Amino acid sequence: MHQSIPLFNWSLRKAQDTEPDSFIRARISIAYTIILFALLKSIIVLFISINSGLWLQVPRAAFVLAVYVIMLKVLLYKPSSLKILTHIMTIVGILIIVSNIYLYTHKINLISLQFVFMIMLTGFYILGNGWGIMYSLISALPIIIFLILKGNPNLYFSSATQEIPSPGVEIIAILNFVSIIINHSLFYRAFQRNLKEKENLNQQLQLSVAEANSLAISRTNFLATISHELRTPLNSVIGITDLLLLDQPEERQKENLRILQFSAQDLLSLINNVLDFNKLESDKMVLERVPFCLAEFMRNICSALMVKADDKKLRFVLEIDHKLEGVVVNSDPTRLSQLIYNLVGNAIKFTDKGTITIRLDCIHKSDQTTDVLFSVTDTGAGINPEKHDAIFELFTQAESDTTRKYGGTGLGLAIVKQVLALLNSEIHLESSPGKGSRFYFTVSFVVQWEYPETISKRITDNTNFDQLKILIAEDNDVNRFILKKHLDKLNINAIMVANGKQAYEAILADDYRLLIMDLQMPEWDGYETIKQIRSIKDPAKAGIYIIAFTASVTEQQKIMDAGFNDYLYKPVTLNDLKVKLEKTVSLIGLT
Ligand code: ADP
Repeated sequence: MHQSIPLFNWSLRKAQDTEPDSFIRARISIAYTIILFALLKSIIVLFISINSGLWLQVPRAAFVLAVYVIMLKVLLYKPSSLKILTHIMTIVGILIIVSNIYLYTHKINLISLQFVFMIMLTGFYILGNGWGIMYSLISALPIIIFLILKGNPNLYFSSATQEIPSPGVEIIAILNFVSIIINHSLFYRAFQRNLKEKENLNQQLQLSVAEANSLAISRTNFLATISHELRTPLNSVIGITDLLLLDQPEERQKENLRILQFSAQDLLSLINNVLDFNKLESDKMVLERVPFCLAEFMRNICSALMVKADDKKLRFVLEIDHKLEGVVVNSDPTRLSQLIYNLVGNAIKFTDKGTITIRLDCIHKSDQTTDVLFSVTDTGAGINPEKHDAIFELFTQAESDTTRKYGGTGLGLAIVKQVLALLNSEIHLESSPGKGSRFYFTVSFVVQWEYPETISKRITDNTNFDQLKILIAEDNDVNRFILKKHLDKLNINAIMVANGKQAYEAILADDYRLLIMDLQMPEWDGYETIKQIRSIKDPAKAGIYIIAFTASVTEQQKIMDAGFNDYLYKPVTLNDLKVKLEKTVSLIGLT
């Protein structure tokens, strides 16, 4: 209805073309039909009343004719005035009923009743329910009053002086019926068209949803593949750097190796953020529950971050509440390190001078749980209070020049927020521009008190690990080499095979307690191999503890559903491997 229509337009189609809604188009048609029939009827009445000398009828018919000609023009020129025109039409209709009953016929005849029906029809179909009810009552009122006043009236034609004589009255009655029928039919057709349109829309919607789903699935698969492709070479870089650092390098080499290690770690953390974003979006992230010593874990992470702060000549302080020393918690170290990496990484990135402080305060402790308040404080750029909420949204940075000055993706804090939600916590921020920022959150941990002493004894006592007969199935030479080196450091002697079939045969031939198995291998992949192993007749062999060794972070559920006991992410560091083996030993025991 926004397009302009020529003033001399007499075409209904032009008036309707601008209107996409089939119901409104039907309403315009109804008004158009009623006006057209009214014009025709007024001309007939005018003609007959002049001929028959019914002079009282002439002014009314002339008035109706004039008003309806104007209304028809307005409707075709400006269809948006439909409702106002309908109100006028209805009021004129009511006046016709009143004049029919009280002025011309002094009774209730068929024509008056037909007018009442037409007013009801236009009221409901064009103006809606409220107006429909109101106009229906008003149009019926003159009839009701007449009935009350006159008792039992003659409802049919009589020879009252001002009544239009035959055949005029019959023609008008027939035209009224035709108009009523056409209008009902117009509305019903619009109703059906609307249903059909809805059906089509539904079908289109279903197609779009299916398309969007398949796109989402291919994106997830694409990211899982990319994750594997990126993590495999990174695995080599981080693993080999780790090994070189453990081989007592010269001081000069040490510095270069550290830089290499942190660049690789940075890249890995970026890849993890991108992948986790994908996982969080598809609700696939599951928290792991692994026992680890919280204080030791924090020192490990921070020793890596400390070097980064050192590069920028920043003071780096880690303060751990003494109540947390030696406390072993059951939680997800990967997610926790992701939180710390993102927050401390940002603190270092956005601070040019001063101090980065990481504090862990035990705010509540019982035998089963401990609530820890983590806070990361810096003396850096600070954040404008207006941006305090926005920076936790995806891809949002506080300033428009942040990427140019400091780099970054705007993913880190959004992931922090979502990971904390999984840990039933939330992030808080205190910050003012130029003064620095403090990000803090509280996590409630389940405590595992007995774990550290026994396990650390087992770890330092190499004879215990000697009894853990491990089989490793991995087709990638570099991964195998790194794993072997790490296992050597832990004094563990493992047998290496290059594919699933060989792993299956090795298990049949010998007794192993643990199999660490890559998922993507030639011949049988990890999933096929585990199926074969779990169906071996000997229950001891079939029940072997199997850890999936994977680069994909989106397959946790699939891995566990396939019957694996645990998973170990690539690239694996010596510490990751140690933690995983500690967990395995505590679960299966050593013989
Ligand atoms: P990225 O660091 O990749 O840009 P984040 O989601 O980690 O993305 O951070 C979003 C934005 O929040 C940053 O771009 C920066 O503007 C602001 N920000 C985060 N941490 C700090 C901080 N410690 N000091 C100042 N600004 C920060």
